[in-house]
Amino acid sequence: MSDPTPETPEADKPKPTTPASPEEVTRKLEDFIKNTLGGQVLFTRIDGPGARRTQETDGDKPGEEEPADNSAAFEFNYKPADIKAHLDRFVIRQDEAKKVLATAVCDHYHHARMLHEDRESDRPGPRLEFSKQNVIIIGPTGVGKTYLVKHIADLIGVPFVKADATKFSETGYVGADVDDLVRDLVAKANGDIELAEHGIIYLDEIDKLSSGPEKLGRDVSGRGVQTALLKLMEETEVPLYAPNDIRSQMQMMFDTRKGRTGREVVNTRNILFIVSGAFSGLDKIIEKRTNRKSIGFVSADMKTAAPEHLFREVRTKDFIDYGFEAEFIGRLPVRVVCDPLSADDMFQIMKNSEGSLIRQYEREFAAYGVKAVFEDDALREIASRAEEEKTGARGLVTAWERVLRDFKFEMPSLGLPELRIDGALVKNPESVLAKCRMEAASMAFELGAAHADEVRAFAQRFQDAHEFTLEFDDASIAALASRARREGLAVDALCDKLFKDYAFGLKLVSRSTGAMSFRIPAEAIAHPDAFLSELVVQACRPSSETTATPSHEP
Ligand code: ADP
Repeated sequence: MSDPTPETPEADKPKPTTPASPEEVTRKLEDFIKNTLGGQVLFTRIDGPGARRTQETDGDKPGEEEPADNSAAFEFNYKPADIKAHLDRFVIRQDEAKKVLATAVCDHYHHARMLHEDRESDRPGPRLEFSKQNVIIIGPTGVGKTYLVKHIADLIGVPFVKADATKFSETGYVGADVDDLVRDLVAKANGDIELAEHGIIYLDEIDKLSSGPEKLGRDVSGRGVQTALLKLMEETEVPLYAPNDIRSQMQMMFDTRKGRTGREVVNTRNILFIVSGAFSGLDKIIEKRTNRKSIGFVSADMKTAAPEHLFREVRTKDFIDYGFEAEFIGRLPVRVVCDPLSADDMFQIMKNSEGSLIRQYEREFAAYGVKAVFEDDALREIASRAEEEKTGARGLVTAWERVLRDFKFEMPSLGLPELRIDGALVKNPESVLAKCRMEAASMAFELGAAHADEVRAFAQRFQDAHEFTLEFDDASIAALASRARREGLAVDALCDKLFKDYAFGLKLVSRSTGAMSFRIPAEAIAHPDAFLSELVVQACRPSSETTATPSHEP
């Protein structure tokens, strides 16, 4: 008889062979590299596009390929006017930009469809060709450039990525970073590569990539980024897994091991590029070329002198003189100008835009039961303050924040049903807030006085039923009356609700302290259960620790 096989100790048991997750492997690798090479190695993005992409291909059979080109999967059937009508709901002014963008977007996506159909057909002869409708928007900050692009992307249902061009010129791996934009689109599209291939990439501060004589420091990187972007704007294949990002590479290994071998590149043919910038100084170049330099000449017609009017006459050569590569500018055939916003435009934004900040403030106050009523004179005052900030509509947030900060903090606790925000409040918020406090106090007091009998009647009923005396003072009566009003309840119904567990709880307290009478302060009205628990806890502590809450011993 052979010996029974001895039990294998736990530590010696063979480990299960399930592959470690990419996060696990990456973490171990990170530790290893950091310990070996110090903290100089950069790790980015744990859930790159590859990670998301594999979620949807989970369960795929090994080696199953996704179709090479599914661009028809993205349906587009808008007319320029549809898009403009949508933008009109949110964006005030910028009519020219709305029309130009709407048309460029429609052209772009119709071209994408026609190109796809052409590639699919077996029609003889040369293939269709279109030049891409990439757009350059010239305009100051905060006038709605991003807002326009975002709403277009939302409407047509494509992913949208925004970045500042300066981000690329300040880092070492220009090309790779620029490719990240495309991978970000895939992430935004939840791994749907075909949808990402129809996305919109929006780059702001593109003017900072110019390499004019006065921008010597940026020459190299600016030009490098232009070249990298140029490739994307034309047509290129961007690897789904970033070659110099260790996490991305780990993800690829993981996917390959699991047999997920879908597409590994994203084609940029159908991605629409929109770039923008304030282009300060470009007006001077246009002025010079058009010979309309002297303010004296145009003083009778000030509009001609305003930069945004000169910008409308911009030519490719002006951009080249500004410091752009001809090829780069050549890939941005659609040019449009966004105008600065006047105080009146800002007023209209607050009053009429569907995304108005005012609606947001109304909702925020309403969450505390306060009806915020914004008067036009307040909006006008804020609009003119915002104009002074010179940050476009962003100045509205700054101006309102300063005025409303304390109201947003205090109004929720004051119990006032309404806040009228007028010019006087904007000019002197502190004194209006002080008035609100006084009004709240006197309102609560009056309300309390009007309902004191009901509260006393409740206390009497409670005593008759349970033998305990509840002592309410003016402040707690006022708090009860205010709360009842806020909750739309009768005072005695509220009392029944708040003190339903008190008979039982006070019995426990009374058993250890002998107290039969209890003072109910205003805080107890806000948090009756917490107050009762505290009473019980205190009653159960050794007598030396107890702080007196029962109003008196019998
Ligand atoms: P930028 O022109 O710098 O891209 P944004 O589009 O990001 O500025 O504008 C910042 C915010 O200001 C937007 O989110 C929006 O709320 C508001 N805003 C700016 N311009 C307009 C406009 N013309 N109409 C309505 N809201 C605007």
